[in-house]
Amino acid sequence: MTAKVAIDLALDRLFDYAVPPELEKKLSVGQLLSVPFGHRLARGFAMELSCEPPKEGIALKCVAAIEEPTPFFTPKLLELARAVAAYSAAPLESVLKAALPAAVVRRNARPKEALFVEPCAGRKPEEAGRLTKRQRWLYEQVVRLGGGWLAGLAQELGCTASVFRALERAGLLSISSRAMRRDPMAGRRYLPSSPLPLNDAQAAALERISAQKAPVLLFGVTGSGKTEVYLQAIARELERGRGAIVMVPEISLTPQTMRRFAQRFGDKVALLHSALSDGERYDEWHRIRRGEARVVVGPRSAVFAPVGNLGLIVVDEEHEPSYKQEELPRYHARDVAVLRGSIEGAKVVLGSATPSLESWMNARRGKYELVEIGRRAGGGTMPNVAVVDVSQGERGIFSRTLLDSIALRLDRREQAILFLNRRGYSRSMTCASCGAPVECPKCSTPYAYHRADSCLRCHICGGWAELPAKCPRCGAGTFDFEGLGIQRAEDALRKCFPSARILRMDSDSVSRRHSHDEILGMFGRGEADILIGTQMIAKGLDFPNVTLVGVLNADASLNQPDFRAAERTFQLLSQVAGRAGRAELPGEVVFQTRDPSVRAVRLAATGEYAAFAEGELKERREWGFPPFCHLALVTLASKSPQTAAGWAEMYSKSLAAYARGRDMKVGEAVPAAIGKADGWYRWQLALRSPRPGLLSSAWRWIRSCRPPPKALRIAFDMDAHSMM
Ligand SMILES: [Zn+2]
Ligand SMILES: [Zn+2]
Repeated sequence: MTAKVAIDLALDRLFDYAVPPELEKKLSVGQLLSVPFGHRLARGFAMELSCEPPKEGIALKCVAAIEEPTPFFTPKLLELARAVAAYSAAPLESVLKAALPAAVVRRNARPKEALFVEPCAGRKPEEAGRLTKRQRWLYEQVVRLGGGWLAGLAQELGCTASVFRALERAGLLSISSRAMRRDPMAGRRYLPSSPLPLNDAQAAALERISAQKAPVLLFGVTGSGKTEVYLQAIARELERGRGAIVMVPEISLTPQTMRRFAQRFGDKVALLHSALSDGERYDEWHRIRRGEARVVVGPRSAVFAPVGNLGLIVVDEEHEPSYKQEELPRYHARDVAVLRGSIEGAKVVLGSATPSLESWMNARRGKYELVEIGRRAGGGTMPNVAVVDVSQGERGIFSRTLLDSIALRLDRREQAILFLNRRGYSRSMTCASCGAPVECPKCSTPYAYHRADSCLRCHICGGWAELPAKCPRCGAGTFDFEGLGIQRAEDALRKCFPSARILRMDSDSVSRRHSHDEILGMFGRGEADILIGTQMIAKGLDFPNVTLVGVLNADASLNQPDFRAAERTFQLLSQVAGRAGRAELPGEVVFQTRDPSVRAVRLAATGEYAAFAEGELKERREWGFPPFCHLALVTLASKSPQTAAGWAEMYSKSLAAYARGRDMKVGEAVPAAIGKADGWYRWQLALRSPRPGLLSSAWRWIRSCRPPPKALRIAFDMDAHSMM
């Protein structure tokens, strides 16, 4: 007997090993094995078993051991991994690696210690001296839940750890350090929730999902109650003994989202989010594999979760760019979900208020079923959107319209969210005398000025520099700050409204002062009047007291050299506008723009997705862009500008010759939009074809006949999402 083994070396091939007779009966496909490789032992997965003896004259090395008897991959998951590898022209081992948490393969994950809170037996709150009303309520909740992990309880009950310490001092609670059990969910208690009543549109959507013949594109405005539909569709699958995977974009994998699933399905849920320790990740993965957790909620890698008897895969906010992995293997989790659904016979739901044009097109072609939920659940109304032209008249960071609206909210003690998608104080700094931009020496991009620590930062390589005293080109000493950054907007806002309580949320403030959850928690509890933030605040947040959303620079992302720029702008503006007026209070939205006639801004303001999609598709068809073809982007990077350019041109010519007579177009080699990053010069070429298989096989062909030198970094990105 012989085995083909995938070893994690990114060599893009399988290795043959002989199976010793004592292992023959125990060996199965998908197991983790250890095998001799060179002078050491390597780990790899059994991909194929064959009973034929090896070809004569070939002496195969033997499989050394089976590391784990239970296979890590079911045959169907292996089939999926093979298909993803073939489609994205990625080594199979890289797909297998992406499908497993690193902690699972390392096997060195130990359960960690954490603080556990329990009510003290036999103590009554009356004996504990004076308690505040809130302390008493919290104590009662802990009793009701029977205790739990401190961090989990604090989150569930919306309080800080110090409250539990106070109750400990009062002798009502005991707090002790314990090893987390193998399943953290069993330690984390949630107040259970029951299904909410559905409106007619939601109920109809649920029926269509349950009876689907093809993947369902669930098109519903923000606030239309898609999550409740997912929850009830999952409950139906669980009743039939089948499991479910729910994918959410990383940025909306917040405690709010996780709690909803955990409250509904309790111990049956495994939550795979980035805050998990290695030990927890290890535990969660094994709970899923053992079938104890039947519902998995997580980011894009959750699409590979080893859920047995899979009934349903939900991809929430399916248009989100974070579903595309930007490193090997460059897969799109939405497309993998659809593929897995067809391999495993599972239902698939892609949900969005602003579907990607790829999915919209698939629905129009009948490849997906289109199911619409047209209005907000719970009767909330869509907000009024004002588009304010700031190119003339209303100059400045804040227009009069927006200032008046903010003042009104402060008067009424309602809250406002302001949105500006640019970190730092200003986009760039240029010499006031000669106009030379101050650039990062390692990247071809201007530095952004960060005022808090008074330094220049490069948003490409993360590098920083001191403010220069004089211009490196002409020696003049004054500089202009161009392009509004969020820190400057925050400063200006504080000047306009000195008594308002203002919170800023962007990746700089999050890493420095408070965590993402802390900032949102403070805002949710009404400890601030205005939240100003970058795209971090655009998604999924639900604050009933927010009645105003302002976008400071609605057309900012339109100028990017990317054929999806308009689509992204439309999606972002629609998401942002969806934050206003989600409960009883009516909402108001202000888009500030330099060009109110831009289609993406105009139609996002009126909420006309279908009209936007039709206009955009017409242009994409004319220009021959996706979804009318598949586009693979090849990026070549080298420390030497000649090497990068030379190889890009050579590949472009050879591939153009290959494409002759085939249904495929090869673009010219061009410097990338970010022409230099972290010292690497970058060139690109785009390949287009209606048949994706043609692109990946063309790429495999050129790589094998003209293998690139080691000094060249090459990325082949099928269905590329980042064109920079
Ligand atoms: Zn100068
Ligand atoms: Zn840089």
